[in-house]
Amino acid sequence: MTLTIGVLALQGDVREHLGALESSGVQPIPVRRPAELEVVDGIVIPGGESTAMSRLLGVFDLYDPLVSRLRAGLPAYGSCAGMILLASKILDTRADARHLDALDITVRRNAFGRQTESFETNLQFAGITDDDGAEPMHAVFIRAPWVEETGPGVEVLATVESGPATGRVVAVRQENVLATSFHPEVTGDLRVHQFFIDMVATA
Ligand code: GLN
Repeated sequence: MTLTIGVLALQGDVREHLGALESSGVQPIPVRRPAELEVVDGIVIPGGESTAMSRLLGVFDLYDPLVSRLRAGLPAYGSCAGMILLASKILDTRADARHLDALDITVRRNAFGRQTESFETNLQFAGITDDDGAEPMHAVFIRAPWVEETGPGVEVLATVESGPATGRVVAVRQENVLATSFHPEVTGDLRVHQFFIDMVATA
């Protein structure tokens, strides 16, 4: 049976994630209403602007249904703003921003600072680049958050390996929830989406 994976389609780089999922062989659907959320086997929360997405989750009556599906174990993958929304604690956000509290991490928004607002680098990604002969992952960061603290159940999958932010945590997983500070949906490298699809398939 083909998996159906939703992309939260309120704001941000929705189209890129839909394309990456389609190229990875699953059925992608944009999610804007509770009825669409009900039919998905997993959900992607795209990059964009986390405070805008937070507000729109309320406007579209999706906040409560999404929180309750996440609590019930719906697999989720957040990139960049999506990582921020999934986190349990956010530093440097608006006081009224709501989040989904599905991943036991503290994230700092726009953490890489003015000089490095956007940058690209190569990374090792546990479970992906450790395969025999695998290429490192090219990671694109755009006003990205980093993970400042991880709870006991959280696995670190990637860190920055060079430059001023060396050692900063930029990919994590806790059970069915995956998050990256960077944007694999813009590089044509489908390995992170495939990794998430495997998580959905085994959930
Ligand atoms: N800085 C954005 C935020 O706070 C995230 C940027 C992105 O998703 N590319 O939501």
